[in-house]
Amino acid sequence: MLNYLLTEEQQMVRDLARKVAREKALPKRAEWDETGEFPWEAMRAFAAADLCGLYVAEAYGGTGPSVMNFCLATEEISRVCGGVGVTFAASALGAVPILLFGTEEQKKKYMPAIASGSKLAAFGLTEANAGSDAAGIETTAIKEGDDYILNGTKQWITNGGEAEVYSIIAMTNRKKGARGASAFILEKGTPGFGFGKKENKMGIRCSATRELVFQDCKIHKSQLLGKEGMGFIVAMQTLDMTRPGIGAQAVGIAQGALDEALHYARERKQFGKPIASIQAVQHILADMSTQLEAARALVYATARMIDAGHKEFTLASSQAKLFASDAAMKITVDAIQVLGGYGYMKEYPVEKMMRDAKITQIYEGTNQIQRNQIALALIKENASKK
Ligand SMILES: Cc1cc2nc3c(=O)[nH]c(=O)nc-3n(C[C@H](O)[C@H](O)[C@H](O)COP(=O)(O)OP(=O)(O)OC[C@H]3O[C@@H](n4cnc5c(N)ncnc54)[C@H](O)[C@@H]3O)c2cc1C
Repeated sequence: MLNYLLTEEQQMVRDLARKVAREKALPKRAEWDETGEFPWEAMRAFAAADLCGLYVAEAYGGTGPSVMNFCLATEEISRVCGGVGVTFAASALGAVPILLFGTEEQKKKYMPAIASGSKLAAFGLTEANAGSDAAGIETTAIKEGDDYILNGTKQWITNGGEAEVYSIIAMTNRKKGARGASAFILEKGTPGFGFGKKENKMGIRCSATRELVFQDCKIHKSQLLGKEGMGFIVAMQTLDMTRPGIGAQAVGIAQGALDEALHYARERKQFGKPIASIQAVQHILADMSTQLEAARALVYATARMIDAGHKEFTLASSQAKLFASDAAMKITVDAIQVLGGYGYMKEYPVEKMMRDAKITQIYEGTNQIQRNQIALALIKENASKK
């Protein structure tokens, strides 16, 4: 592994996340993958180890704010299990809108419980007819006096049903199109807010992916995040901030796959010698490692940029997510190749890693959408220089 010159604190966070993930998630990951059981046991252990508030300032109950520490922890958890990794990271996705756009009162009310890990958060944007085209959302939030009345259904929401706090994007004024969306904080248990279909997925199977259903759900106007009409600004700025976390998930899954491939290649003998001594196999391992380090370097550089206070990081954030997730997909497929037929079997973890890696190319904006964003950001950057 390259030397990323981590500070002592960063090394401590990485080592702690690695230790807790290995103790609590490693023995259970195959079972959770099979049954789809939500990994509460691991999540409670991360909370007990004070790992849930790394990206949150101390004033709001966290131990940060540090996107880098959050990425290091997400990577180590995902190295053991992608499903647990996304469960951990999606709580941050649900909380970042509150951190970025919440009032002092909202932050003080909601963040300490999320930062301590006693409550999980979730983020609800996607709907059946609105994925990449988020402006097509149909859930409405209509103002009535001091309240908003929500109606509609969100689809595929990570931590849905398990989280207590939800950041939701809904249309407050359809006529205004993209400028007619607003963001709200919703609490589990609010009358009219329920949960629908739970998905049966290819990978990250222990994570909860569920519908959120709003039926005349009344919330007070104090639950609005930012101003009316800012819903998509909230969503886009949140995703800019959290995409390095998807990159970190991808890097973690890929590292897990490389670990397995290296170990297996040294143990497995064919033609009277370990397959690790066959140059064709060595070249696969060399490419896996090189792609992995390039992905990790992009993710860490982006996290460090954000932590250093740079205001413009859409380009870096999309590039980190795009490259790391494409690398993870290739690296996990290659790991199966190194293990041969055994790699295809459920007795070995690499087939799960491949299934887990796939989603990192899809959520928080597909990789096609990342390429669109990268090109736009590049053109904008170039135009501003002339
Ligand atoms: C397991 C899982 C968990 C998720 N968790 C959450 C969550 O917590 N919260 C949340 O809000 N959402 C969540 N999502 C939704 C996720 O973000 C969307 O699936 C994703 O944004 C893509 O939308 P879509 O699936 O509708 O695909 P579509 O938008 O229908 O895209 C289909 C294909 O067309 C391509 N495409 C579409 N438009 C363009 C374009 N303009 N240019 C180039 N290519 C394009 C896409 O890249 C893709 O290949 C989750 C999804 C899954 C599967």
